[in-house]
Amino acid sequence: MANQAANDTARNVGPVILLGPPGAGKGTQAKQIVDRYGVPQISTGDLLRDHVGRGTELGLEAKAIMARGELVPDELMYGMVATRLREADCQRGFVLDGFPRTAAQAGWLDAFLEKEVFENRAEKNPGKSPEKSERCPPVVIQLLVDYTQLLLRLTGRRSCPTCGRLYNIHFQPPLVDELCDVDESKLVIRNDDREEIISERLAAYEKQTKPVADYYRLQRRLVAVNADRPREEIAAQVFGVIDRHCLDSQGAC
Ligand code: AMP
Repeated sequence: MANQAANDTARNVGPVILLGPPGAGKGTQAKQIVDRYGVPQISTGDLLRDHVGRGTELGLEAKAIMARGELVPDELMYGMVATRLREADCQRGFVLDGFPRTAAQAGWLDAFLEKEVFENRAEKNPGKSPEKSERCPPVVIQLLVDYTQLLLRLTGRRSCPTCGRLYNIHFQPPLVDELCDVDESKLVIRNDDREEIISERLAAYEKQTKPVADYYRLQRRLVAVNADRPREEIAAQVFGVIDRHCLDSQGAC
């Protein structure tokens, strides 16, 4: 068991993409993947909130759009995502949570991976460059959740501003109302988790993000997982999908 864990955090995992509507549990599952495989979670929502918090040029442009629950324009996303994916900790793989969110972003990501990951790898291993068919394409996992369940997850979501721990007042309440179990900070509700904004975010998902699932389905890369279950059970399924994907790609990840 310990050997298995050490093995999982040493081997290449390749890109993992989590798809699903807001509230499907992408962030929660991404954290489980981080713990198991030791690869970073790239949450574009978190990256954008960080830009907003720091008041960068991108943050200033994104702030009002995010507050309305709409998607930030694709062109603003690419530079931010490319910069993050070029960082050294992404070399063994990474888990994308919240990206791609439009079909155009999915196409951009494919081109980016082809150019920057596979070609670089080929340059570093002259004579050993994997055939196209052997390259490890992203594994795309779609989390499926019932609509009523989604609303409860989004309206009940709270987080600790100090340690980042996540709670849900319906399913995983803190021990003391509205206070973090770890450091007793007052829990906060995300600006865009307010009810009037939630419907905007779900509408954006239906319109712009569902085509992303179609994009990957057409390429036979989409694996759907029932996410209406306890998170450990979902995680076990997600790990199974990733492990099978890595086995199938025969070390090309
Ligand atoms: P999230 O935390 O993933 O729910 O993202 C929060 C907000 O950030 C979204 O409602 C969008 O406004 C913005 N956002 C996050 N990821 C993307 C993306 N890939 N494309 C466009 N906008 C995004």
